[in-house]
Amino acid sequence: MPNPFWKTKTLAEMDQSEWESLCDGCGFCCLIKLEDDDTGEIFNTSVACRLLDIETCRCSDYANRFDKVPGCLKLSVDNVAGLDWLPATCAYRLIAAGEDLPEWHPLQDTSHSLSRVSVSGFAQSEQYVHPDQLHECIID
Ligand code: SF4
Ligand code: SF4
Repeated sequence: MPNPFWKTKTLAEMDQSEWESLCDGCGFCCLIKLEDDDTGEIFNTSVACRLLDIETCRCSDYANRFDKVPGCLKLSVDNVAGLDWLPATCAYRLIAAGEDLPEWHPLQDTSHSLSRVSVSGFAQSEQYVHPDQLHECIID
């Protein structure tokens, strides 16, 4: 059997469909982040972007996300390696670092028998959190 595309192609060589399929839908990149003004350090909160469907961990308006949420960041070949707030399990980060996908990744575990981590178990939508309370929601 030939090697799968993520082992033979760089991120830059992947087509749109291959690129999109790398996302396991964990939802971590859609959590609201706070930046320390002094150090520049980025902290994740347990509060998710208002467009994130917490149950499925998918964007509820993916096609129009940049119009509706100006702060939504488009992952790209050029920026992914530098986004150290992405979870260590994020496929874009792993592939950029020359690593393989974990065995539970949907492209590896096609029967979806292995459990995956996502924000659905703990995240709350920003619709229900006052901006002044965000700092109380910082997570590791
Ligand atoms: S952190 Fe990576 S794998 Fe998780 S939802 Fe975002 S892009 Fe997809
Ligand atoms: S607009 Fe969609 S993709 Fe962007 S952060 Fe919000 S939920 Fe995530």
